[in-house]
Amino acid sequence: MPTYEYKCEDCNYEFSMILSISEREKEKITCPSCKSDKIRQIPSSFMAKTSRKS
Ligand SMILES: [Zn+2]
Repeated sequence: MPTYEYKCEDCNYEFSMILSISEREKEKITCPSCKSDKIRQIPSSFMAKTSRKS
């Protein structure tokens, strides 16, 4: 399943969620930190520069 990267516009918390397309349609994404629903999806190309390989 694809991983979606999100950023909270209220507290700038960044998180990722693994959701199927149908889950993504019906689930309301909220910030795990502050519970805000002002969530912006981060394009995957953006993530390329923060490649963290442990
Ligand atoms: Zn937040």
